[in-house]
Formats: sequence, structure tokens, C-alpha cells
Amino acid sequence: MTSITHADATGFFGAHGGRFLPPHLEAPIAEVAAAYREAKDDPSFQAEYEALLADYVGRPSPLFLARNLTAHLGGAKVYLKREDLNHTGAHKINHTLGEALLAKRMGKKKLLAETGAGQHGVALATAAALLGLECEIHMGAIDIAKQRPNVVRMELLGAKVVSVESGGRCLKDAVDSAFGVWANDFSETLFAIGSVVGPDPFPSMVRDFQAIVGREARAQLQQKEGRLPTALVAAVGGGSNAMGLFQAFLEDEEVQIYGVEPSGRGLDNPGDHAATMTLGTPGVLHGMRTIVLQDESGEPWPVHSIASGMDYPGVGPQHAHLRDVGRVNYVAASDDESIEAFQLLCRLEGIIPAIESCHAVAHAAKLAPTLSADDIVVVNLSGRGDKDIDFVAERLGMNPR
Ligand SMILES: *Cc1c(COP(=O)(O)O)cnc(C)c1O
Repeated sequence: MTSITHADATGFFGAHGGRFLPPHLEAPIAEVAAAYREAKDDPSFQAEYEALLADYVGRPSPLFLARNLTAHLGGAKVYLKREDLNHTGAHKINHTLGEALLAKRMGKKKLLAETGAGQHGVALATAAALLGLECEIHMGAIDIAKQRPNVVRMELLGAKVVSVESGGRCLKDAVDSAFGVWANDFSETLFAIGSVVGPDPFPSMVRDFQAIVGREARAQLQQKEGRLPTALVAAVGGGSNAMGLFQAFLEDEEVQIYGVEPSGRGLDNPGDHAATMTLGTPGVLHGMRTIVLQDESGEPWPVHSIASGMDYPGVGPQHAHLRDVGRVNYVAASDDESIEAFQLLCRLEGIIPAIESCHAVAHAAKLAPTLSADDIVVVNLSGRGDKDIDFVAERLGMNPR
């Protein structure tokens, strides 16, 4: 049975999801699925996970009423779910810790993953260090050159960073490379994916690990306001922080939900954006059926976003299904709108946000003024922006000293 909250027994959310894999990856994926099915229902696994979220990540993250932003926008009250205050500065630590715990439970010695800009790699290397696992991160050679600070972080945390020299030497090639290594080495290694994407069970597993975000937000808002939000807003790259916030509210039909993807420099030319939901078509990418930005032969388009964590030519299959059934509205925010939102949050609230999260803030800035003072908008502030300040300074033409 298809539902909006859970995949069916074959890993499909409506027409999306499933497992589209070469035969040599079927055994490793089946093993993960079986292990996760057991872990999910084991109270001792969940207790260990929740203890790490509390004592290591610092959860619950606050739900903060942005009074100045609310006054500035005029309209709905805007609350920020402060995932930027987590250890390592973003939501990704929520699922990498879950993946690392699962690896230990399965008796694996090593975590393996791809990374684009390096944010998933750093979060995974962190979890691996904490839990005494080896960590191997595949990264395109071009990305390695662009993302030196994250490469250094991963290495300091004890991870091995493998430079991928094949194809376009970017994220897609790193995925192929990491999957290739996994197939040969899965008795010792768990592949730990970076978002709610990939073959089943990864989209459901990562969603479950992130769902703490929405459960907390729901309880916190209940305590502060005694009610549900009018609307939720979150940025969508692969879709993990957004699914984390949305999952706890999907069945509350009165809650409007917005996923915000990057329209980058504009929607007219492929390569200028990563607006998968706006311009994508059904296809197969990274082992799942979903909406993909692709040409007629199924080759993914090059993508662009000012936010490196958002430039992905696909989207998690649960999101694709939520779009099909009309439960979530997928909208876009541009590079320029996100930079504006970045400055707004810095000046009005004293918060330097991740440029990814600014896509959600930019949409909230459009939405809040259309609502009344009785309405409440909850924005997922998925990460902090220290990583983005050099780039933003250059973009704003701030004087170098
Ligand atoms: C990686 C990242 C994103 C995008 O990834 P999702 O899987 O869509 O959440 C958004 N915000 C931050 C801060 C990130 O690091």
C-alpha cells in the first residue's frame, strides 16, 4: 500500500523509489535493508541513538521565534528550527550518527561514502571518529581542489579522502567510484549515503534518522503556541533536512508545506540551476526512480547553485511522490534571493546562516507577508554559514583588507 509517510514493501513511494541496481550491488543492499529493519524496531538501538543526539549533537535544537524578522516581513510569525546549532553546524550529523551506529551493529569496520562539497564527508568522518570506525570518502578531483577546508577537516578527523579522476571528476563520478568499491568490500564496509536518496532502504533510513527534527519542532510549537504551524518551509537539495522537518506533519492536512529548490542564475538554461521539481522528468538516478534533470537520453544535466549542498540533479523519491499527490508545494529561490536572505538574517537576528538554508528563508520572506499575524511559519535553518562567508564577501564586493 502506498502512503505519503512510508514506502511500500518494495521500497516505492507511489511511482518513485525502489532499487535500480546492477546485480553486484543487490547483495550489499539487501544486507543493509535487513539490518535496518531489525535496528529500527530495537529499543536499545534507538536509545543509543537518542543518547548521542542529546549528549553529542546537543539536541533538542531550539525553536526560535525570529521577532525582528517577523516585524520586518509583516505578517505571519516566523520561527527558526536551529539545526545550525548542532555539533558540526548542520543537520547532516543526525543521519551520519545513525549510519555509524548501524555499521557497528552490523559488525562493519568501515564507513564509505561519496561527497560533493564535502559537508556529508565531514559529518560522516565525525561520526566515524566518535564510534571508532574507519572512514573512506570518495570525492571528485575538481571538488577536492575547490573544497580544501573540508578535505583538511576530513583528514584531521582520520578519514581517507580518495580523489576520483574519472568522468567529469565531480559528485556523480564520486558516487560511481564509491559504489564500485562497496561492491567488492561489503563484508567489512557500510556505504553511508548523504541524503534521502539512492536505492531502498536509504531514503527511508535517512528520513527516519532526520525525523527527530520535525518531532521536536511539533512538540516545541505545541508548548510555545499550543497549536500546529500554518506552514513549514525547508530547502531541498537531495531532501534530507526537508523530510526531517516534514515527516511529523504530513498527515496534518491543514499544515501547508513548502520545499524550496535552487533556481540559481535562472531557469532558462540547463546548467544554471538545480530546479529538479520545476523542470525535471521521471527517470532513474543513483539506484532510484525519481524526478531528474536530464536530457533526452537520460544523461543528468549539469547543475548550478550558489549553495554547493544543493546542486544535485535529482531529489529523494518520497519528495517526488509528495509532489505527485500534491501534498507538498515545491518552489524555487534564486542565488540572488538567497544572498539577500543571508544578509537579512545576519543583520536582523544575529545569525549567519548556511547559504543552503537561505533558500528556505528567502521563500519564507515571500510567504509570511501574505499571511496574517495569527499564522505561524516554521523554517528549517539547516546549517550555519561560517563556511560561506568568504564567498558571500566576494559576491557582495566587500573590501579585502
Ligand atoms: C547538505 C545540506 C543541505 C542540502 O541537503 P538536503 O539533503 O536536501 O538536506 C541543506 N542545508 C545544509 C546546511 C546542508 O549542509
